Amino acid sequence: MALLVCGSIGIDTVHTPDGDSRENVLGGSCTYFAAAASFFGGVRLVAAVGEDFPPDLRRTFDKFPEIDLRGLEVRKGSKTFRWGGKYLANMDQRESLFTELNVLGEEAPPIPAAFADSTLVFLANAHPGRQMAILEGTPHRRLAVADTMDLWIKIAKDDLVGLLTRVDGLVLNYDEGELLTGKKNTVAAGRAILKMGPRFVVIKKGEHGCILVHKDGIAALPAYPTDNVVDPTGAGDTFAGGMMGRLAQMEAGSAGRDLGSFESVREAIVSGTVVASFTIEKFSLDRLVEIKVGDIGKRAAEYAAMLRVG
Ligand code: AMP
Repeated sequence: MALLVCGSIGIDTVHTPDGDSRENVLGGSCTYFAAAASFFGGVRLVAAVGEDFPPDLRRTFDKFPEIDLRGLEVRKGSKTFRWGGKYLANMDQRESLFTELNVLGEEAPPIPAAFADSTLVFLANAHPGRQMAILEGTPHRRLAVADTMDLWIKIAKDDLVGLLTRVDGLVLNYDEGELLTGKKNTVAAGRAILKMGPRFVVIKKGEHGCILVHKDGIAALPAYPTDNVVDPTGAGDTFAGGMMGRLAQMEAGSAGRDLGSFESVREAIVSGTVVASFTIEKFSLDRLVEIKVGDIGKRAAEYAAMLRVG
């Protein structure tokens, strides 16, 4: 009964359209994911950083005591992944300014033996071959969900299609859904992805929310409406972290529950939406280190009230 995430820990540089920017701040897919999931219970992290990983960034993890760091490898002689990005005027689209893979381009960090019994697995954005290796290392999983990005759709599509036959769910952006399937319509893209294997796909549309296309139904959720968008970096990963964290919490509360059912996933994406709405209010993890579980509950209640119609 445990949630595992494997992905990147990075040192980010982010520029926003109003001229504000931050250099060398904590980022990475599994950093954001694990922080978000930790509001719902324990989360096991598997990732590698280099010897250059700054102690002050490392200390941020201490603010999230529910993250189990036994799978964090500090690799001798290697450098930490670095990424730089610039947001366009609408804050929904961004350009990557640089990507220095460093340790991410080397051998994957091992899954500690103590994590092999993980039942929920999130494969954060990585080469699909590497994601497949994590599946092989987690034979007790009950639910596996993957993220992906345009790069892998372009350069490793066959591996990605192979991975999709082995996972329960996929989370991706609407433009990536179009790239993967050739379909502009989000629901049509979702249905085409279901034909590739997974039971459900969550297609994210930034400030327009997300659409869940599941073998047993379709649901659409708006984003939490706000004009307080400082830095959208990590919104996607914290969405996934909130979603998987909530599913892990459901599993803890009711062992036999079908975690991949339409009802379970629909409920979980509400948690993902709410946690992501905090991430974007400050740079890096600055907002997530401030909030408490109660803040998430309060905003979830406001969000539920807003959605009530009739
Ligand atoms: P998100 O905004 O949720 O899509 O995720 C942003 C995070 O992804 C940043 O903190 C980056 O460090 C990380 N990132 C960007 N490019 C890559 C990549 N090619 N592989 C892994 N992580 C990446």
